[in-house]
Amino acid sequence: VPSRWIDVSVPLKTDMVHWPGDPAARISRTLDVERGDSYTVSFLEMGAHTGTHIDAPAHCIRGGPTIDDMPPDAMIGRGRVIAIRDRESVKVRELERHGVRRGERILLKTVNSGQCWESDAFVEEFVYIAANAAHYLAARGVRLVGVDYLSVGAFRGDGEETHRALLGAGVWLVEGLNLAKVRPGPVEFVCLPLKLLGADGAPARALIRPLQSGGGRRR
Ligand SMILES: [Zn+2]
Repeated sequence: VPSRWIDVSVPLKTDMVHWPGDPAARISRTLDVERGDSYTVSFLEMGAHTGTHIDAPAHCIRGGPTIDDMPPDAMIGRGRVIAIRDRESVKVRELERHGVRRGERILLKTVNSGQCWESDAFVEEFVYIAANAAHYLAARGVRLVGVDYLSVGAFRGDGEETHRALLGAGVWLVEGLNLAKVRPGPVEFVCLPLKLLGADGAPARALIRPLQSGGGRRR
């Protein structure tokens, strides 16, 4: 019996947390049946890197692929949730223990999942991918990397290098996952961004279905 799909995206709402300096999210109604209109129509306003979203290489690489260039199979298929114990950052020495392989879809579950999404205030001290760990993942040739707060890189310090190391190597990034309900291990993963033409990023819905360890050859 296949296990159920788990929604690992965060809800989008007005005044939700966002990266400092990015536009605030606002979801309002231009028409509303509750006010006597014939239909309800919502108006959405938000940065492309708010909530659960995908970073395209064009986010920081000039002339890089944009969201609409993303091959859908980058974001659909087998993946692996890796539990990160370090409460500061994802480091090479912890990744090394997990034997990351070429082509893997790697989803990093840190303490962020249980801690950061409780609040609408931005958490500056989230667990990030240290720049040398980003170079390590890029060199391993992973297909995608997913993280459980708003950026792969640190709020201060080498966040830009972390992005460049991964996006420059053609690794697609999912940011803003909430992996609190998911155990480490093999999974099926689906995450599809809105098809924003020429965009650097886009909001996405992400789902995970755990696979039995060992018996997970099924696609
Ligand atoms: Zn982003």
